[in-house]
Amino acid sequence: MAATVIDGKAFAAKVRERVKAHVTRLVEEHGVMPGLAVVLVGENPASEVYVRSKGKATREAGMKSVEHKLDAATSEADLLALIGELNRDETIHGILVQLPVPDHIDADKVLAAIDPAKDVDGFHISNVGLLGTGQKAMVPCTPLGCLMMLREELGSLSGMEAVVIGRSNIVGKPMAQLLLKDSCTVTIAHSRTRDLPGVVRRADIVVAAVGRPNMVTSEWIKPGATVIDVGINRIEKPEGGTRLVGDVDYEDVAKVAGAITPVPGGVGPMTIACLLANTVTACCRKLGLAEPEGLTA
Ligand code: NAD
Repeated sequence: MAATVIDGKAFAAKVRERVKAHVTRLVEEHGVMPGLAVVLVGENPASEVYVRSKGKATREAGMKSVEHKLDAATSEADLLALIGELNRDETIHGILVQLPVPDHIDADKVLAAIDPAKDVDGFHISNVGLLGTGQKAMVPCTPLGCLMMLREELGSLSGMEAVVIGRSNIVGKPMAQLLLKDSCTVTIAHSRTRDLPGVVRRADIVVAAVGRPNMVTSEWIKPGATVIDVGINRIEKPEGGTRLVGDVDYEDVAKVAGAITPVPGGVGPMTIACLLANTVTACCRKLGLAEPEGLTA
């Protein structure tokens, strides 16, 4: 039987509607509009596209959007000073520094300077520690989006075998922490894992976050498993030009999986939706209000 296609685009639209409803309530009942500041240093065309779409999505959700575009030659000290200002700005609830930053700037130092309560990317070491100890954290957007899709598709994840392929700080590790928090039995597989297909074949849930086109094939998948493909890879088409594919051989795996996310249109749209969700969460926490339902881990 063919797998259910998990439509990330449609689900992201639902999450954005939920965000908008929360924003309306915050504005009408508390007189506070959540605000997101995005900081971009230098002229990376891909980053510029991301920043533009983040700003647009923020405004569409009814939130305040501030964009700081800094010259590539901006010093680390000036960038840290701007972050200090945004940390103190009462109208800003979320701060995101678009990575990568130019080589002369220490990205770790910049991330550490962001107030953890405003760290909507969830990269600050305090948030990493809070998530790792099962406490209330700001959670990285991509794994949060994957978790939301899994819960929507499967309901309770308790007791399920989950295999995360990839151990990056941005996707693999926080994804594993989130699945553990939802009571899965979690394995993190990586480039040194022995018998990767055999390990993946045990999983009820597979999350692939590697960056290798079409690596995961149907022989790796237990029939009926749910497969979340985080990978974004650009490959050459035989007829010329390029196209995006994930880490999972979609056509092949869809024959055995129970459910699968496509690329594009799966995890990608959920990442921006979760950035908006995190900004609302940060705002609610700042005001001492209950966590916004359906938008947190
Ligand atoms: P990364 O390069 O930091 O990490 C890749 C991980 O894959 C590493 O931990 C490595 O151990 C593992 N790996 C490499 N080769 C392997 C192999 N042969 N077998 C098993 N594991 C192997 O990458 P990342 O930042 O975690 O991103 C992973 C992918 O997800 C990329 O394609 C990236 O573009 C994509 N991504 C998508 C989104 C989104 O919004 N959809 C967000 C972030 C990243």
